[in-house]
Amino acid sequence: MRNARRAIDLIGQTDLLRVNSLSELTGCEILIKLESQNPGGSIKDRAALQMITDAMARGELRPGMTVVEGTAGNTGIGLAIVARGFGLDMLAVMPNDQSPEKERMIALHGAQLKTVNPVPFRDENHFYHTARRLAESRADYWWANQFENTSNLRAHYLHTGPEIWQQTDGNIDILVSVAGTGGTIAGNSMFLKEQNPEIQVWLTDPNGSGIFSYLKTGEYIADGSSMTEGIGIMRLVENFKQARIDAAVNLPDQDLISMSRHVREHDGIVLGSSSALNLAGALQAAALHGPGKTIVTFACDLGERSASKLYNPDYLRSRGLSDQAEPVTELLARYYQAGD
Ligand code: PMP
Repeated sequence: MRNARRAIDLIGQTDLLRVNSLSELTGCEILIKLESQNPGGSIKDRAALQMITDAMARGELRPGMTVVEGTAGNTGIGLAIVARGFGLDMLAVMPNDQSPEKERMIALHGAQLKTVNPVPFRDENHFYHTARRLAESRADYWWANQFENTSNLRAHYLHTGPEIWQQTDGNIDILVSVAGTGGTIAGNSMFLKEQNPEIQVWLTDPNGSGIFSYLKTGEYIADGSSMTEGIGIMRLVENFKQARIDAAVNLPDQDLISMSRHVREHDGIVLGSSSALNLAGALQAAALHGPGKTIVTFACDLGERSASKLYNPDYLRSRGLSDQAEPVTELLARYYQAGD
């Protein structure tokens, strides 16, 4: 419990929940850090706060100015909240294939929203280039640039990593994380490996993501086929570059669907897609390294934000996916085999 005077003072210091069903099944301690508890409902509030406070400290960003950012949605929501806290406005540029729930949240927070068609990064109408051009068009606009701005990873190096270290009393063997900008995995891996270089860091990546193929082959082979949002970028960016990663796993969307149903049923948590993927990665880490290991991962956001996709059988069917969950015992058996 905390008493605060500003919403932004409630960013961070999130709880760590033991996922009992998976811990009992694997003989590992599988812990999930509830980043959904941040005021904007996602892990990206942390990056938003750090990017804005660092830019204000440098004098680049002053009250009355407008923060501009290209976003899959969660960073836009976080920035909208933090911008308000400092007397700034917010303009989010978002591809129009992201969940309508996130679009609505940005608008509800009073930010301006510009949606663009989803196009490949090389196209100048990509949301990233659109945000940059808009920011350059006016002197009172400031571009947050979460991909290249390393205040993003600093948020995790300064806060999330130390919180995990404290909450586990230093008893952590494996950190499992998805990556979008890479801020989460970079900042946390840097901090945790400084405390104990033995800690293993696992990247979990969705099917069709460029990062996984880059780490394995040095080439970006990507088809963007995953239903996940905000993760699995197709290029190497500054935040991701600094991540200290020991293993990368690539899991199909069907596995995260199964995992989301399992923890809803057994643990009472309704996760967003990237968080369900994180837990599937944690299960695979438990299969390959367990039992007896402590594995920490993140609930980056909750399923209410992906109700129209992950929890919508019609949507899943339209993508050739099934609403039927594979039992987690079978998922685990497959993951054991992956290690053979
Ligand atoms: N999960 C969700 C739901 C996200 O929105 C994002 C960021 N877009 C991530 C994970 C990835 O976090 P990061 O940018 O720190 O890699």
